[in-house]
Amino acid sequence: MSQAKRVINFSAGPATLPLPVLEQIQSEMIVTSDWGMSILEMSHRDPRFVAVLQEAKSRLRRLLALPEDFDILFLQGGSRLQFSMVPLNLAGTSGGPAEYVVSGSWGRHALTEAARLVDARAIWDGRSTNFDRLPAEEAVAPAPEAAYVHFTSNETIQGVQFREMPSWGEARLVCDASSDFLSRPIDFDRIDLLYACAQKNAGPAGVTVVLIRRERWEGVSLDERLPSYLSYAHHASSDSLWNTPPTFGIYVVNLICRWLEEEIGGLAAMARRNAEKAALLYEVLDAFPDRYIGHAVPSARSHMNVTFRLWDEEREAAFLSGAAERGLVGLKGHRSVGGIRASIYNAMSMAGVESLAAWMRTFVGESG
Ligand SMILES: *Cc1c(COP(=O)(O)O)cnc(C)c1O
Repeated sequence: MSQAKRVINFSAGPATLPLPVLEQIQSEMIVTSDWGMSILEMSHRDPRFVAVLQEAKSRLRRLLALPEDFDILFLQGGSRLQFSMVPLNLAGTSGGPAEYVVSGSWGRHALTEAARLVDARAIWDGRSTNFDRLPAEEAVAPAPEAAYVHFTSNETIQGVQFREMPSWGEARLVCDASSDFLSRPIDFDRIDLLYACAQKNAGPAGVTVVLIRRERWEGVSLDERLPSYLSYAHHASSDSLWNTPPTFGIYVVNLICRWLEEEIGGLAAMARRNAEKAALLYEVLDAFPDRYIGHAVPSARSHMNVTFRLWDEEREAAFLSGAAERGLVGLKGHRSVGGIRASIYNAMSMAGVESLAAWMRTFVGESG
């Protein structure tokens, strides 16, 4: 297959996808499977599309070892819409406050949206240290009557990640896993709902995966004025076919899951690879602490988004342009924090990370 040279893409999202998946999409773009038409042209009610949707669900369930009492939904509107759907469905009429552990920019946005709709409050906020760390377990004390406790497993902008699912008392957790979904196994014990827009680590923009414990939507009474699309019950009871779902996105999520199962060997294997990739970059930060200033404290370092500054902000443009000459792109930090961010999701190869680590060492050498 002839293709123009691909760069090594460290973008935070939409982000790099596995080449075998892109090649399969390409080979099936005009005629998918034996359908005589493209996936883009197929009715979402056609049993052949429904089979793709069911396959995606089965693969997700297997990969995640998802407990039986969870439903899998494929929604639109990105994680931003989940910032509103979560409080509307889970806290709307229950009375208890919605509590938020704010460990970065996304957690803050989630709280802001919830507070427009329900009684919502931060029970931990990392702003005073510029979101460079995570709370000690005992620093988070949810109210017993809380409707849920929301947290962000990986803060994409600051690069801080919970190493394990937290357990804060008996709290029922809601997790924004947008930027580390499918990067490692997940312990669902305390979780009632987990959501992830696909475009970071699980597929293309346009589909958001929601995993919800059945008891959190079944028989729950919602405000009658709630727009129907915003009710989890509608989507769960009609198997994500309440309205036209993002068919192409679901198809790609299925291909990603197949790649994870058949080529990577599951989420534990994926997690090991991701840890090795991240270690390569953090080793460089630790080797040159007066040159590369890591944002996250070591115990909170993300395996997905490695964030750091250069010793001299003036050198940033030279760092980025030298990187680009080597085919390393998408490294500029988020506009709200600056510096450098290397997003090294599942599809980023070890070789790609090695090239970046080599460039970081070379850049220090060149800078004298
Ligand atoms: C990207 C991101 C979001 C926002 O996702 P959209 O699909 O753009 O709405 C929310 N939370 C986290 C952790 C993210 O990384």
